[in-house]
Amino acid sequence: MVVVMDLRATEKQIKDVKKRLEQLGFKTHLIKGVERIVLGAIGDRKEIISSGIEMMPGVEKIVPIMKPFKLVSREAKSENTVVQVKDLSIGGNDITVIAGPCAVESREQLLETARLVKAAGAKAIRGGTYKPRTSPYSFQGLEEEGLELLAEAGKETRLATITEVVDEKSLASAVEYVDIIQIGARNMQNFHLLRAAGRINKPVVLKRGLSATLEEWLMAAEYIMSEGNYNVILCERGIRTFETYTRNTLDLSAVPLIKRLSHLPVIVDPSHATGEWRLVAPLSKGAVAVGADGLLIEVHPDPCKALCDGPQSLTPENFSQLMKELALVASSVGRTLNLGGQNL
Ligand code: PEP
Ligand code: MN
Repeated sequence: MVVVMDLRATEKQIKDVKKRLEQLGFKTHLIKGVERIVLGAIGDRKEIISSGIEMMPGVEKIVPIMKPFKLVSREAKSENTVVQVKDLSIGGNDITVIAGPCAVESREQLLETARLVKAAGAKAIRGGTYKPRTSPYSFQGLEEEGLELLAEAGKETRLATITEVVDEKSLASAVEYVDIIQIGARNMQNFHLLRAAGRINKPVVLKRGLSATLEEWLMAAEYIMSEGNYNVILCERGIRTFETYTRNTLDLSAVPLIKRLSHLPVIVDPSHATGEWRLVAPLSKGAVAVGADGLLIEVHPDPCKALCDGPQSLTPENFSQLMKELALVASSVGRTLNLGGQNL
């Protein structure tokens, strides 16, 4: 249920309604939008109907949310959520491009990539330091040493930083170093990790699971939000299908669909979706055209030597060219892609 408060409701009225809901056994979430203030109330629906809450001063109406995902849903918040990371806004009119290597391999590799993607217009540097690899014999990541390098790259370039966590221990370490936490496809239904990510005060990029339905994905986001972290960014990264030419199949229909069902920002990762660098540019453009709020793109200074995901990584030159083309696509759909001085 959401309790929609009158726009003129006073702080005291909101507090009283919140207190009453909590007395009735509801878990409450205050969602302050520009157009309206609502109190999300999770609990037994019948209780609220008979409680007289609707009559309390400042309450406009009570709206039941029929969908299993509540805080995530458009019904709970009609306007788009814009996630703020330092001076970066994700989910507004500007398209946010996050770029960087699959894995942090060395100081030189990361700093060089960070400088080059920044020059091309990226707003955040990515790099895995805890790598969930299919084989236990593959490179597993630099762990804490990699986190230190990400922090250094962020400090030097002033790019926001993002890295994937795989469990509560890596989450606890990563929050000390980076600006945005990523939960990968393989952990989309690691409910303990989702809950733990809901208790941090940093934004979370939540990737879609390998075979997750949109509802399962949104329920995973609900886990994070239900613990009080409302800064969730959804990332479509392709799903398993029978097709073998590509690593996964990018589900672009998910973008406008999720936008209808939820107020959360949606970004697209064409690198993991395809596994093939030649497909990254066309699908990035497609993603922006269908309404994605941003992209997550793997870029390596020398993809042939990458320790992880080289075949899907763009060279910095190809990335820079793509960014210019993306700015044109963005403007054709009424969005902007700020290339840092060379905006079109
Ligand atoms: C990644 O972003 O490096 C990654 C492992 O992605 P995914 O979880 O989408 O496979
Ligand atoms: Mn990768």
